[in-house]
Amino acid sequence: SAEIISGTEMRAAILEELRGEVAAIKEKYDTVPGLVTILVGENPASVSYVTLKVKTALGLGFHEIQDNQPEDITEDELLALIDKYNNDPSIHGILVQLPLPKHIDEEKVITAINPDKDVDGFHPVNLGRMVLGDKDGFLPCTPAGIQEMIVRSGTETSGAEVVVVGRSNIVGKPISIMMGQKGVGANSTVTMVHTRTKNLEEHCKRADILIVAAGVPNLVKPEWIKPGSTVIDVGVNRIGTAPSGKALLSGDVEFDKAKEIAGKITPVPGGVGPMTIAMLMKNTVASAWRHLGAE
Ligand code: NAD
Repeated sequence: SAEIISGTEMRAAILEELRGEVAAIKEKYDTVPGLVTILVGENPASVSYVTLKVKTALGLGFHEIQDNQPEDITEDELLALIDKYNNDPSIHGILVQLPLPKHIDEEKVITAINPDKDVDGFHPVNLGRMVLGDKDGFLPCTPAGIQEMIVRSGTETSGAEVVVVGRSNIVGKPISIMMGQKGVGANSTVTMVHTRTKNLEEHCKRADILIVAAGVPNLVKPEWIKPGSTVIDVGVNRIGTAPSGKALLSGDVEFDKAKEIAGKITPVPGGVGPMTIAMLMKNTVASAWRHLGAE
């Protein structure tokens, strides 16, 4: 049976490391990392994501501003708000929770964030830096979390066949580029597959590391998994509601059978999800070091 890679445990370890860095920043600069989370409207999923981010930031001793705005805020008002935080020296990270209401142009808003405070790593400048392998940028949090999990699980990436299912701008595309870069936790041979791919199964079967970010429950069958491989299941699918009212979640991989074949596998929940939050905190701490060091 496969080793279960626990994102929850890895997150705890990363947050502990970050606590040490927050203390070192305080010692050296007499201040703490500052994060603002901007939430527009009351979309329940967004509210719960933001709540968890705020709680985690406060737990690390960050200066945290939770800036909640009404659903009907205008685009200009939101852009002015971002400008305010761009110019606030106590803020090192700006997170705008997506999706935004339809009357607001998401791309315009993301592009308005100072790239050096874009701790979500969604700004085109940071995506460009990521492609160039420039370490001055911020990696998008979910792909960064996936790579961190692979490294911490002790999986060899150099020369490994990596297959990524999905080509979205927030997961599949960036993780494909990152795993193919030169460097630690990368140097892999990457195949990115998607809805138009022929023989999805044949590609998956070759993967030493299989990363699945499709958003389709049970898409990946146990017999598609190479024995002993590492399987990272990014999918978060609501498949029902428990009697308690809590959402029942499943990944994109048939976990119960897949874990008898894979060497290492991530669960859902408790896998990639917690890592995403940890990487947001890590980016914010990195941003604080850079801003304070440059002052
Ligand atoms: P998306 O819908 O934007 O992209 C899905 C991709 O999968 C597409 O590129 C599509 O080509 C591919 N795909 C879909 N069905 C396929 C099929 N049958 N065969 C082959 N390829 C197929 O989704 P996304 O934003 O990349 O998210 C993917 C999943 O990851 C979702 O379940 C999402 O909830 C989850 N997710 C989790 C986290 C986290 O932190 N754990 C973060 C982001 C997304």
